[in-house]
Amino acid sequence: MTSANAEPLLLARNLRRVYQSRRGMFGAPSLVRAVDDVSFDILPGETLGIVGESGSGKSTMGRLALGLETPDRGSVRFRGSPMPMPSTAEWRTLRQRMQMIYQDPLGALDRRLPVLTQIREPLDIHHPREHHGNQVKAAEMLARVGLSREQGARYPHELSGGQRQRVVLARALMTGPDFLVCDEPVSALDVSIQAQVVNLLIDLQTELGLAMMFISHDLRVVRQISKRVAVMYLGGFVEEGDADDLFASPLHPYTKALVSAAPQARSTNRHERIVLTGEPPNPANRPTGCAFHPRCGAAMPRCKEEAPALVPVGRERRVACHLYPAATSDQTRAA
Ligand code: SF4
Repeated sequence: MTSANAEPLLLARNLRRVYQSRRGMFGAPSLVRAVDDVSFDILPGETLGIVGESGSGKSTMGRLALGLETPDRGSVRFRGSPMPMPSTAEWRTLRQRMQMIYQDPLGALDRRLPVLTQIREPLDIHHPREHHGNQVKAAEMLARVGLSREQGARYPHELSGGQRQRVVLARALMTGPDFLVCDEPVSALDVSIQAQVVNLLIDLQTELGLAMMFISHDLRVVRQISKRVAVMYLGGFVEEGDADDLFASPLHPYTKALVSAAPQARSTNRHERIVLTGEPPNPANRPTGCAFHPRCGAAMPRCKEEAPALVPVGRERRVACHLYPAATSDQTRAA
């Protein structure tokens, strides 16, 4: 959570989302805690990066933040008000202020319509009589995301992946949102194109004062765009803090391994490569105690029995690991 005094735009408390899974047609059903007791704030204009391996619960977290899914426990508040139930009129109104950018822009676009029409669509829905004004605003947005008029007349399959992601971004911005959830938005793009789209996101964020949740497995990209970062493992935050500090001096053994494996994400090359052993455990068969203990080189007997809480460690850092006792409020102030 942030320690700043500004009022959070989004405030999530103790979120839990549980799914039922079944192995094969006749397997016994089991419960998977995709997100488990996660709390965070996002301030206006701030980007919170969420990193972690596949299956860590990052995407579920994004859907909970947008109200696309209802938590089984916990709450989300946006601008101080509880998130309305999905598909209600109140929720549809609020969704204009909150938008999602997915990994696959082709899947998010209609292949039968020129892209400018699709950028205009959100305005047409809310202001159907203002066709000309909507068209002018859509053309302005097209230019703002770096696409030409001629590209606006094309169909999605006639554009490159990076151009399509620009179209999706332009359409998301047409309703003037305050908050974007970007779920692996550049993972499917070439590295050179990734940088262009990330730079565009940073420019737009600065210009429009957008807050973002930026979800990615790629620490390099998260490092570039995020003010704060949360590291997820098996449905929970294991470390959260200022992005520069966290990448320069990771504390949790899992974060250390991730950062050591992505040298371009960290500020210096001081960290030795730490190779994570084993695969992430099956979420339906969660290890006891600290969920990371089967892969942790620093595990102690206590780690198999007792799950560590996410506690403040130093200034603006929270860590869930028995190696780090919680800082007292005096220590936190002095750090
Ligand atoms: Fe490793 Fe124990 Fe810390 Fe978990 S609590 S990360 S097992 S040292």
